[in-house]
Amino acid sequence: MEVLMEVRNLSKYFPMKSGFFDKDTNYVKAVDNVSFEIYKGETLGLVGESGCGKSTTGRMLVDLLEPTEGKVIFDGMDIRELKKKNRKELSKNIQIIFQDPYASLNPRMTIGDIIKEPMIVNKIAKGEELDKRLLKLLNCVGLASYHKDRYPHEFSGGQRQRVGIARAISVNPKLIVCDEPVSALDVSIQAQVLNLLHDLQHEFNLTYLFIAHGLNVVKHISDRVGVMYLGKLVEVAEDESLYNSPKHPYTQALLSAIPVPDPKKKKERIILSGDVPNPINPPTGCRFHTRCEKCMGICKVKEPEMIEVGNNHRVACHIYDKNKL
Ligand code: SF4
Repeated sequence: MEVLMEVRNLSKYFPMKSGFFDKDTNYVKAVDNVSFEIYKGETLGLVGESGCGKSTTGRMLVDLLEPTEGKVIFDGMDIRELKKKNRKELSKNIQIIFQDPYASLNPRMTIGDIIKEPMIVNKIAKGEELDKRLLKLLNCVGLASYHKDRYPHEFSGGQRQRVGIARAISVNPKLIVCDEPVSALDVSIQAQVLNLLHDLQHEFNLTYLFIAHGLNVVKHISDRVGVMYLGKLVEVAEDESLYNSPKHPYTQALLSAIPVPDPKKKKERIILSGDVPNPINPPTGCRFHTRCEKCMGICKVKEPEMIEVGNNHRVACHIYDKNKL
């Protein structure tokens, strides 16, 4: 498969001033040395608890945040170089759909103007052609033509998210970062939006990075899934391999929390002890060791490296590291 985006050793540290005259600086290590790739045409799910760095990672990929370290290579080119040459081209090719559809839409603009705006800025269409494209986009996302004259406050959460999707696909992007696009929606609406994203992917040849809180949300939409914990990517695998044979103890705990619809099937729930540690002062060695049932001596002192355990399945855990001792 062809790589569309390569994320190399990406980190984002946010400075926190404290002390007399703000002299002391600590850093929140929101994302710390994360590497992965996104293949053309696939959906890569990225999951983890709140504060694990998944949204910060997504925002660096669309250039809304500057990385502290590392590179994002898009279509063979560093996005920082691409930005210097042609910022518009970059924003046209990589779009984002936000979690809160209401906050991401200008309340003073009609839905028609909101969807048209990126097409005008990127000189994709004008005049009659622009109006035709608008109607087609509304239709594609399941909205009616008369919706174009309405304002965001007149829509439900699900409809607003459809508007956000129409705006994102209006410029024919290659990659869309979906930043928890269904988290704020009712469960029944979530399924509709997920199905819509799935259908549009095939129609418009889209590649998605789909960020979500839980593994159950990304299960049906992802080709591969990455799991993050406290700023680190701890496991990445094709969806079947990850759901049927999770390797990392954190992934195993997340999966055990997904309810099974069959009352005859009993599943043992793994309860994680303690809270997520402070990202300003993360645990030494493996960042998960303070909550891991399988923690060994080495886990407290040595950070596990990401290793291949077969079938394009990678995990960062000493249990699978043959050279750990
Ligand atoms: Fe648990 Fe050690 Fe693996 Fe970390 S490296 S997940 S502490 S077994």
